[in-house]
Amino acid sequence: MKNPIESFDRLQPGMVTILGVPYDENSSFMKGPASAPPRIREVLNSGSINLCSESGIDLGAELRFHDLGDLNLSIGAAAFEQIEKAITDLLERKVIVLSLGGDHAITYPILKAYGKKYDKLSILHLDAHPDLYDEFEGNRYSHACPFARIMEDNLAGRLVQIGIRTMNPHQHTQAERFGVEVIDMQKWRPDTVLDLTGPVYLSLDMDVLDPAFAPGVSHHEPGGLSTRDVLNIIQGINAPIVGADIVEFNPKRDSSGITAIAAAKFLKEIAARMVETGNWKLET
Ligand code: MN
Ligand code: MN
Repeated sequence: MKNPIESFDRLQPGMVTILGVPYDENSSFMKGPASAPPRIREVLNSGSINLCSESGIDLGAELRFHDLGDLNLSIGAAAFEQIEKAITDLLERKVIVLSLGGDHAITYPILKAYGKKYDKLSILHLDAHPDLYDEFEGNRYSHACPFARIMEDNLAGRLVQIGIRTMNPHQHTQAERFGVEVIDMQKWRPDTVLDLTGPVYLSLDMDVLDPAFAPGVSHHEPGGLSTRDVLNIIQGINAPIVGADIVEFNPKRDSSGITAIAAAKFLKEIAARMVETGNWKLET
């Protein structure tokens, strides 16, 4: 396995980088997302799909695209510090990071690093769940809690959530307290316009998809978005995307392999949109 830290030195400002974050200790219901990053890479390199985005950006030939491999993480709370440190180091090199989870708990240490660089980040959060619990089963760092921690720490100028279909009274109170802009599944329409201004961070929980499209997640929640809906949302982001994560893909539940392919497709489209919305020149 590549050691991501060693290959940091090859990075140039403006590059779009992939970083695997194989960590699922804060999953409340079942483990599995820690094995997602190598599974997504396996699909990307399988020959089943090409590396082009729908807009024609070929990630296989794109000099601004670089896969750093997976982080080697400790067990326990030290992993959060390692994640934050790795992202901080990458942001100091002025690169754009697309992280592959792991469960959704990893978004908190990632955004702690982003918060040191960006004070008005617009976060677009696609998920069946608001992930706003103050604590879940005694764990304040559960994958059910990251956006409570993120909002308490003022790491976002805005938090816009799409696809929510599990809001309970406690999380509704939390959403109001933090000023979260929730576009739940009852309200969302394919022509819903997002007035996002940059910089944007996209956090994509695979369970935003209807389980018919993506059974490989720990928490099946019917009534979600289609793969096409999510692609349209990604492709419609017109502000600079400075970071993103794809989380909660659980290969253990993905018997057909379709969820891995959907995650790989989202990786390509997000990376391409990062390239397209970025405004930089590669140093030669
Ligand atoms: Mn989530
Ligand atoms: Mn979720």
